[in-house]
Amino acid sequence: MRDLSTLPKAHLHLHFTGSMRLETLVDLAQSSRTRLPSSFIDGDPLRVPADHRGWFRFQRAYDTARHLVTSEETMRRIVVEAALDDAAEGSRRLEIQVDPTSYAPFVGGITPALEIILDAARQATILSGVEVAVIVAASRIRHPLDARTLARLAVRYAGQEPGTVVGFGLSNDERAGRTASWGPAFRIAQRAGLASLPHGGELLGPSHVRDVVSALGPTRLGHGVRTAEDPALLDEIVRRGISLEVCPASNVSLGVYHEAADVPLPTLLAHGAQVALGADDPLLFHSRLTDQYEIARSLGLGDAALAELARGSIRASLASPGSKARWLAEVDDWLASDQG
Ligand SMILES: [Zn+2]
Repeated sequence: MRDLSTLPKAHLHLHFTGSMRLETLVDLAQSSRTRLPSSFIDGDPLRVPADHRGWFRFQRAYDTARHLVTSEETMRRIVVEAALDDAAEGSRRLEIQVDPTSYAPFVGGITPALEIILDAARQATILSGVEVAVIVAASRIRHPLDARTLARLAVRYAGQEPGTVVGFGLSNDERAGRTASWGPAFRIAQRAGLASLPHGGELLGPSHVRDVVSALGPTRLGHGVRTAEDPALLDEIVRRGISLEVCPASNVSLGVYHEAADVPLPTLLAHGAQVALGADDPLLFHSRLTDQYEIARSLGLGDAALAELARGSIRASLASPGSKARWLAEVDDWLASDQG
């Protein structure tokens, strides 16, 4: 069995605040004299039921962390630490999701908030060797007009290189709002060449995935695991070339599945889905990128299948063809090495 932390891979589902190291959160709490809820420091990953109350508990914990991010310095620290942690886990490319709205009040608006993140992403790329690109994500609990404002902002910084915006997302409670009302924001983003990267098929099943596919034209689905419940839909997702950002530890923490063995990764792969494993919010789930590959191994995937999974993450990334070719060759090297 080869070392999965040296398997070259791309990390395509990680939220800015949720990426934070616990020690960083503790630092921030101490310097602002905030008492952290015991759920953060008791050493156990968050575990909630997949209902509204469970989501509320998750969101409250998330908000506690977010409310401690009140300066440019902290924003930069989070991006750099996320990249360094990714580098230690074999990641070659990190596409980190952020809604700049939350940090705007502390740095003079959403434009400077995004510019700080992008500049930090460029610095983090140099420091870590991981290409760090940014996904601007709107929230389902805000007004769709806010999403259009964010899409217009994202478009101004669109690119492919590290330190640019590569896609537009939609996060938060999948049950909130009417999916089609975010269509105009996604069309603004897509017209400018940004990838469409909404969450979908996590808390809700196949019929909602159909809504997301028809209204938002996803390049990749955040999660998308629930498509496994409908083989015809799954085949359609594969046929359309929509990749799935599967986050097994997150699914267990948020009650989507009872345990890791229930995550339908083998079903998705058996249908030919292109999957990129992601950590989602390691701060809350206590499970980072390599851990997701360890879970896949525990589901019965051998090294060749794990290498193919890593290739899927690289192919599903929005990196340049040259970068992808280099990393894919590195995956071949990993598999050819006879460690262990
Ligand atoms: Zn997510």
